[in-house]
Formats: sequence, C-alpha cells, structure tokens
Amino acid sequence: MPSREDFHTHSTASDGSLTPVELVDAAADAGVERLALTDHDTVAGLAQAAGQARRRGIDLVPGVELSTRWEGRTLHLVGLGVNPEDAALKAGLARLASLREVRAGRMAERLARLGLADVGPAAQQLAAGTPTRTHFARALVAQGHAKDSQDAFKRLLRRGKPGYVASEWVPLGEAMGWVHAAGGRAVLAHPHRYKLTGAWMRRLLSDFQALGGDAIEVVCGNTPPSQIQHLAGLARRFGFLASSGSDFHTPVLRWHKLGQLPSLPRDLVSVGTQLEAGHA
Ligand code: MN
Ligand code: MN
Ligand code: MN
Repeated sequence: MPSREDFHTHSTASDGSLTPVELVDAAADAGVERLALTDHDTVAGLAQAAGQARRRGIDLVPGVELSTRWEGRTLHLVGLGVNPEDAALKAGLARLASLREVRAGRMAERLARLGLADVGPAAQQLAAGTPTRTHFARALVAQGHAKDSQDAFKRLLRRGKPGYVASEWVPLGEAMGWVHAAGGRAVLAHPHRYKLTGAWMRRLLSDFQALGGDAIEVVCGNTPPSQIQHLAGLARRFGFLASSGSDFHTPVLRWHKLGQLPSLPRDLVSVGTQLEAGHA
C-alpha cells in the first residue's frame, strides 16, 4: 500500500505546473492525507494550499525547499512545519530571492550571447516570481530550441553547459538556522542526487548532524528500492528521522507521481511524527 504522506512537492509559486489549489486537489484525489508544499525559496503558495487542504479535509504541512551551499556544492534543504511569518525565515527568503534574481539575469545574458535572446524574457513570463532553471528550460522548449526539459538541461542548463550560471546561495548551516527559528524540522532533500562518493556522503551527513539537521529523505519520487535501502541504512547509522516526498512538479513527469510513494522501512521514525497536525 502506498504511503499517505508526501513531504516534498512544488506548485506554481516556484517551478511546479499546478497552482497550490490544483496541487492539493491532485494530492487529495491521489489518496494523500498529509501533504507538504515545499516550493523553492518561497512560502508564497502556502496560504492558498492550506485553505484548499481544509476544504478537502487533508493535512497541509507548511514547508519550503531552500537552496544552500556546502563545500562548493548546491544542496537542497527542506524545511517542514515552518511558520511562514517568522521574521528570520522571511529575511532569509528575501536574500535567496535576490540571489535568484541575479542568477536569472546572468543566465539570460549567457543565453543571449548564444543567440537565444528571447529565452530570458520568455522564462520571466512563465514564472510567477523569479524564473528558475526549470522556467528557462520550458522557455527553450516553447521556442523550439530544445525538444523537452531534459534535453534543455542536458545541452544548455546543467553545470558545465553553456547556459549554466553557478550561484553562491547561502551556507547550509545558515539556512538550517532559519528553518529552526521558524519552528520547522530541517530535512536533507534527495541525498542520492548529489552524486557523492561514500566518503563524501558520510562527511555531508556528519556535518548535517553537527549543524542540527533533523531528517533525511529516504523515499523520494523515483528512488529505486536499492537506493531506499542505502538511504535507510544511513538514516539508522546517523540516527536521523526519515522523510518521504515525491518532489512532484508536474503531472507530465510520470515518475514523480502523487500518491505512489512506497512506505518508509518500518523501523525508521518518520519526520511526520515531529510535525504538529494542521499547523498552517
Ligand atoms: Mn524544482
Ligand atoms: Mn531539490
Ligand atoms: Mn524539490
């Protein structure tokens, strides 16, 4: 039986394709009973999502996915159960927004130099706020410069590709401080996606623990069973709570479906046990 919890999803407030209301509807229709909305670097969708969750009778966990840096890499930190009105969190999000703004401008410039001057403005139009790489990918597809989003990332937007712009983001520990100040739990998002060696992964997890990290994602949208076992082993070894989230962005990507997550291994403690019900 699939899990009834999903603690990692996106809406149009960042780079998802469903509005917060549509997302809650889709999740409720798919049997999700406890849903976290975790848009990139913004809490702008939470109020609408919470309203719809009340109407649909499901529990909405207020969340956010923060862009952070650690040892020169970009890591994603999911904050769950955060108070979106917290002053420290708000100030942090404002800082990330300005970093995103700078990065989007530089990406548009780079693409313009490649002869793709229309892509930046089109990405801006597609985004509710500051365009993310996903919006640039969609603009590239819409203008016929890429056959789909994956193709756009592979040829232009990934690290090392001509449209890529590195961003400094904020140190992992600092972003974690905002999550905790806002009363939330700090969850390391999709640890397997950073392509770390075993030694680097252990180093990351021991730093994450030393900084006060609460949980790691053990079940993600498209994690193969062997990977889930591996992540579960790391959660046990370090004593982290476990989280599960689809990282749902759009119904178009069939491997990040709502309501299809496998349950966590039974011996792990879900981060959900540490989240108050209905706090939104
Ligand atoms: Mn995204
Ligand atoms: Mn992420
Ligand atoms: Mn995500």
